[in-house]
Amino acid sequence: MPEFPEMEALRQLLEEPVRAFPIERAGPAHVATLKTFDPPLSALEGRRLEGVERRGKRLLFPTDDGELVLLVHLMTAGRLRHLLAGEKGPKTPAFRLAFAGGSQLVLTEAGSKKRAGVWLLTREAADAEVAHLGPEAASIGAERLGEILARDGRRLHSLLRDQRELAGIGRAWANEILHTAKLSPYALSRDLDGEQVERLAEAIDAELFRGLELRLAGAKDTRVYRVHNRLGEPCHVCGTPIARVDYEEHTVYYCPSCQTGGRVLKDRRLSRLLR
Ligand SMILES: [Zn+2]
Repeated sequence: MPEFPEMEALRQLLEEPVRAFPIERAGPAHVATLKTFDPPLSALEGRRLEGVERRGKRLLFPTDDGELVLLVHLMTAGRLRHLLAGEKGPKTPAFRLAFAGGSQLVLTEAGSKKRAGVWLLTREAADAEVAHLGPEAASIGAERLGEILARDGRRLHSLLRDQRELAGIGRAWANEILHTAKLSPYALSRDLDGEQVERLAEAIDAELFRGLELRLAGAKDTRVYRVHNRLGEPCHVCGTPIARVDYEEHTVYYCPSCQTGGRVLKDRRLSRLLR
């Protein structure tokens, strides 16, 4: 799932092109992708977008009259692209905005499961839609992060991915951040001392902005991730093979030397099979 680096890079890349021309035609939209029906998509036609905002992993496209906001959540497999006039697009996009002059914004989704979503909302409803999100993870700072960590005793990997606590980090960047911070994914948030909180805050910024820079340069996953999806490969800091713990929905990658004092964490899936 795209996280802060991917979504912020996309926001910056789309900012200029989406406001260059008014919207000529909004839709079609896949029935599972469009989550709202009032106002209708046609309400966008003839209006101009002001640009792109990002909140956590969501992109918001406000109209320049301040009345409407198109909200997009790509989930795991959604992909949003701007196509120039004449550029060949997908035959059946999950969603499309056609601009005067011929350029388009198209959302596609790989696979049969349609999980990505598009909402057309009033400004007030859009604000309400993102109101549950915690503060932006990027540039959170040690003081604010310390307050969030102290609220309850959560495993760090799980807390970092909780959008209500911090917005913008998912499973991939949680792996990268915790590795850079030299903290165990299973350390309890409340157990961190001041120096560790400081290190975690610095690692959040170092990793998220490293990722943003690489994504803006068009880098693919294999160049961007140093820990995530690298089972058995040498840790880029100490050379120890990267280990992982599997869950149903996600996988935690970590370096046993850098992060867990040499301990190899139990693979939950394996231990369940053996039980
Ligand atoms: Zn290491």
